[in-house]
Amino acid sequence: MASHIVGYPRMGPKRELKFALESFWDKKSSAEDLQKVAADLRSSIWKQMSDAGIKYIPSNTFSYYDQVLDATSMLGAVPPRYGWNGGEIGFDTYFSMARGNASVPAMEMTKWFDTNYHFIVPELGPDVNFSYASHKAVDEYKEAKALGVNTVPVLIGPVSYLLLSKPAKGVEKTFSLLSLLPKILPIYKEVISELKAAGASWIQFDEPTLVLDLDSHKLQAFTAAYDYLESTLSGLNVLIETYFADLTAEAYKTLIGLKGVTAYGLDLVRGAQTLDLVKSNFPKGKYLFAGVVDGRNIWANDLAASFSTLKELEAVVGKENLVVSTSCSLLHTAVDLVNETKLDDEIKSWLAFAAQKVVEVNALAKALAGQKDEAFFSANAAAQASRKSSPRVTNEAVQKAAAALKGSDHRRATNVSARLDAQQKKLNLPILPTTTIGSFPQTLELRRVRREFKANKISEDDYIKAIKEEIKKVVDLQEELDIDVLVHGEPEVSVPSHRNDMVEYFGEQLSGFAFTVNGWVQSYGSRCVKPPIIYGDVSRPKPMTVFWSSTAQSMTARPMKGMLTGPVTILNWSFVRNDQPRFETCYQIALAIKDEVEDLEKAGINVIQIDEAALREGLPLRKSEHAFYLKWAVHSFRITNCGVQDTTQIHTHMCYSNFNDIIHSIIDMDADVITIENSRSDEKLLSVFREGVKYGAGIGPGVYDIHSPRIPSTEEIADRINKMLAVLETNILWVNPDCGLKTRKYAEVKPALNNMVAAAKLLRTQL
Ligand code: GLN
Ligand code: ZN
Repeated sequence: MASHIVGYPRMGPKRELKFALESFWDKKSSAEDLQKVAADLRSSIWKQMSDAGIKYIPSNTFSYYDQVLDATSMLGAVPPRYGWNGGEIGFDTYFSMARGNASVPAMEMTKWFDTNYHFIVPELGPDVNFSYASHKAVDEYKEAKALGVNTVPVLIGPVSYLLLSKPAKGVEKTFSLLSLLPKILPIYKEVISELKAAGASWIQFDEPTLVLDLDSHKLQAFTAAYDYLESTLSGLNVLIETYFADLTAEAYKTLIGLKGVTAYGLDLVRGAQTLDLVKSNFPKGKYLFAGVVDGRNIWANDLAASFSTLKELEAVVGKENLVVSTSCSLLHTAVDLVNETKLDDEIKSWLAFAAQKVVEVNALAKALAGQKDEAFFSANAAAQASRKSSPRVTNEAVQKAAAALKGSDHRRATNVSARLDAQQKKLNLPILPTTTIGSFPQTLELRRVRREFKANKISEDDYIKAIKEEIKKVVDLQEELDIDVLVHGEPEVSVPSHRNDMVEYFGEQLSGFAFTVNGWVQSYGSRCVKPPIIYGDVSRPKPMTVFWSSTAQSMTARPMKGMLTGPVTILNWSFVRNDQPRFETCYQIALAIKDEVEDLEKAGINVIQIDEAALREGLPLRKSEHAFYLKWAVHSFRITNCGVQDTTQIHTHMCYSNFNDIIHSIIDMDADVITIENSRSDEKLLSVFREGVKYGAGIGPGVYDIHSPRIPSTEEIADRINKMLAVLETNILWVNPDCGLKTRKYAEVKPALNNMVAAAKLLRTQL
């Protein structure tokens, strides 16, 4: 009975790789220093897995930046603008593609399926000259072998590689990426032959695109690719690994029909129907790599339940052909629970990070082989039972309130145009009202104060005083700039270039949340996030933001926006419970935020912004599941504010402009005003309205890009607003930057906002 791990986190238990990369990029250390840290990480991971007893240990799952970029390097598919002249690709070219350099911007990055990992999108056109330009896969295989570990080298499969690519500039509309298959397969052949020569007996191709909605043309590409590789692969055991969702019946049929393939890796955590497919038809003599240990979450596996699933599978595929595995690469979970010093023992007993999951996989494999570690299994069963019955998990009142929401609808009583009228009477805003998204620049002084307060080095009184002073500065500045609807600047919330803060700030004040010290997960390159863990029913013991918002409101006669993170964003940026459906957890958070919204209203806050930066991110992979997700996500948002008066203005903010496909859901959120990122693609966003979608609520498509230090001129901003006015009604348009200002400096923010207000004023005189 054997065990296998699909892939492992690269950052290291304490983000060693992050620090080594950043120090190298800052020229504070050498390439050799970086390579040394990387080699040490790899060898400790291989050793850890082999000590745990794992039979099929992956190699080439390490990466200095991204595994898709590694494949691009392997294939020599460097876009010409990076000036690469052939030969083995080194750090220079590699990191230029990843991060850009002084003269050329980086390649595009996008989300890896529905995870928060981002990969570098290959740019391919008809003229790419593929060549074998990075021997990393073979080098890593040899490196592990020299350490005494015979690994399974992992490559991104050729079809997934192409399906995840985008056509190069100029050929966007006309080019078929799959037409490149005959050009990249010869390189794959070279790599496979070298791996064979180096002694590999297994090889793993990750083909996760097999779980997407694929037409028959795309499915045929898999058949064609592995037909072509069959002769080269002979003599090797070949594993095709899929993950993140069920396979459709057609995709499954394609998979088990692939030539030269001996093993199939399936995600049995997310794939509820996959099990039935396997039971109904599994080819004789092939291996099933059964992904029963969840790579997407931090919960300890329910070993008894997995064991019985595996027993069922064993009856179908045969004892010798069943391999216990993870549902996907462990890249998407935290690294090692041993470094968590702040979690209590009870919560810890419910959790398993990557290092613990490796042990679980092996324990299951041994149990199947008749060597069950009784003590380990019974400790696990006790932890499962304690999680089920713990009073920290269940809050009857919350359960009841959330259950009561199901099936019913929650909307404000009056329609949006009547509400906007009522609000206007109260707020008395000019046309083209100006506002900002929430955060203002974070000074070093501010960061020091917050750090010292957290470390108990300064008193709460001193902390409050410092934050109040900061709010006063931000309020005064906005009055001076003559902005219409003010913000308090989020000095108590924001950490520059973190997204954790938007969720952490609220999670820390809600019950049902726990926080880790080292539970980092790679987001892209050296960037990691540390999602909170939602372990129990969520409730709000006391107001969270009312003190700061009302303090800020008391400093000005202008409307001050209350600032909250929405339930869907809190959900999507956390590790969530697996003992109840996502929507139930989301409803609970929505009820907690509803309490806060209503308390803000009572405290005299007339404008409340509820950020839903991550609503789109949660969209399921399969189209058939979109409608259900959008329904409960949008419903959750409406729950938060269905109880306010007509005169209270609800804003929301979203950090993306590609929302054309979900525009009807966004309208259905029924916010009074939405501010959205837009500055990088005016046209795309506006086209939706040009095509006749009716939008009656207030809308503020960002008029300048805050992601760049560049200061936009008044003319330029006025020009942009004019473009929007051509499509949108004058009385619904708002003028605002496209996101929060926390990553910028005051020297950039002041003139930019000044020009923004000037542009709004200029246009008001012309309307
Ligand atoms: N209110 C938040 C801010 O301004 C919104 C940030 C975001 O959308 N990511 O920082
Ligand atoms: Zn934003």
